[in-house]
Amino acid sequence: MQELLTEIAEAAAANPDKGNVATYIPELAGIDPNQFGIAVALADGRVFTAGNADVPFSIQSVSKIFALALALGRVGDQLWYRVGREPSGLSFDSILLLEREDGIPRNPFINAGALVTTDTYLAGSTPREALGELLRFIRAACDDDSIHMNEKVAKSELATGHRNFSLAHYLASYGNLRASVDKVLGTYCHQCAIEMSCRQLALAGRFLVDAPRMPGLVSIERRRRINALMMTCGHYDGSGDFAFRVGMPGKSGVGGGILVISPSRASIAVWSPGLNKYGNSKLGTEAMEHFAHKTGWSVFGVPHGGEGAHV
Ligand code: GLN
Repeated sequence: MQELLTEIAEAAAANPDKGNVATYIPELAGIDPNQFGIAVALADGRVFTAGNADVPFSIQSVSKIFALALALGRVGDQLWYRVGREPSGLSFDSILLLEREDGIPRNPFINAGALVTTDTYLAGSTPREALGELLRFIRAACDDDSIHMNEKVAKSELATGHRNFSLAHYLASYGNLRASVDKVLGTYCHQCAIEMSCRQLALAGRFLVDAPRMPGLVSIERRRRINALMMTCGHYDGSGDFAFRVGMPGKSGVGGGILVISPSRASIAVWSPGLNKYGNSKLGTEAMEHFAHKTGWSVFGVPHGGEGAHV
């Protein structure tokens, strides 16, 4: 495994096409695209890393996994009256389907759906309390109390987040937000501004791995469903492509992070800030394709000869 991760990090460093760093959140625009990290937390407790695996980055939409787990913990299946479970086939910040579908976002991983999820775990609390609960969940998942939010990134997105404000107002016009638009956006932008390294994120993802000794933060059924949504919707309009190339559930963020789950084996985090045309990490996606090819890991079956050469 260590050999494979080193090989993947070297391939990323040698690749001249790093993709494009997101610029619509000004605070993220200055990030050096020449960074790459990967970490694998195996079900047996071992952790392997390569590259800049201990450099914290803005997890952005990867946070939507933890937010979903928290919202489901609050209201259970009631959530599905307010948000769907289908891929949208559109970019993460699209407003197009909201009008046609009466203010019910397609899934909890596009921005419109994530705003509903945030509104759900925010219900009955102040933003500070709700964010505190979210941080406690993530800190428990990775057993690391140092995880925090980057206030500058949150403020930067709040100041320029016209599209997310539009989505929130649109949801509110259909009665699909309980808290005020300002409260929901303030909470959502702070949630997205959580910083983690690949090592911390891989450890935090273990609650989605089906193996003994993993943090039991959600029920088995919920874990499977979150994985299913990651597979079908975790990369927006690039979800089909990611499933085709990698064959494992994953959730990307515009900060360049991707969390990938091999459901009974491992939680994997990869990060490189340059994005592809779907807004997902370019080198991160390529790295995961390389990883899946070499390990043979896929939810669609095991390779001939068993578990793969590197396991
Ligand atoms: N905070 C970002 C936004 O709402 C998250 C988007 C993403 O990571 N794809 O635009």
